[in-house]
Amino acid sequence: MSSGTEAGSGSSARPRLTVLSGPSGVGKSSVLAELRRQGPVHVHFSVSVTTRKPRPGEVDGEHYHFVDRVEFDRMVAAGEFLEHAEFAGNCYGTPKAPVLLALESGTPSLLEIELQGARQVRAAMPEAQLVMLAPPSWEHLVDRLVGRGTEDPAVIERRLEIARDEMAAEKEFDEVVVNADVRSAARDLLNLVVGPVPGISFDRRVARDDPAETQPQER
Ligand code: 5GP
Repeated sequence: MSSGTEAGSGSSARPRLTVLSGPSGVGKSSVLAELRRQGPVHVHFSVSVTTRKPRPGEVDGEHYHFVDRVEFDRMVAAGEFLEHAEFAGNCYGTPKAPVLLALESGTPSLLEIELQGARQVRAAMPEAQLVMLAPPSWEHLVDRLVGRGTEDPAVIERRLEIARDEMAAEKEFDEVVVNADVRSAARDLLNLVVGPVPGISFDRRVARDDPAETQPQER
């Protein structure tokens, strides 16, 4: 099973596991793509296993390992996941071996997973760093999820419901990065994953429009 590792000149004195979570539509994939572009650093990017069908443009083994439910259940039973969870009707899991291999070889590892998985990682590996990617406001999130056009309305509604819970869990996270701008969010995340990289300044504390507005509205 393959997983992406980017080689470069950066290094970390203290390899660690970083978990990036955040509500669906907040821009986790865009921030991670930008982070890879911003290298050079030595980071292991975990490739998750999912039972979800590929979206247009998604490549098996690169964006996800796409499997059926039988194979997913086999992997659960065999203890092959570091964490796994069901999200909006599909199963997702982080293969354990590549993450442990990366950390043992001194490479920081980055997982992009949802809240239940983040909690499982915290329980299994308390030293892991939990980072939440938050939208500048709730309206930004709704606009992005609807505008993405990859899900039908019922799925969008379900993902927004989950997003309310995910954002309410912000205090469980060690760090919050606000995705007001993809480039600075990626740079801030990179600093958290590998520590300060020469030539890249650190100004993670981007102000939100209004923190109160970021909280989901009561319905
Ligand atoms: P999507 O279907 O939009 O790619 O992902 C849905 C949600 O599943 C996102 O919040 C994403 O972070 C999360 N996810 C992706 N891979 C994993 C994984 O391996 N484990 C868990 N728990 N969540 C995952």
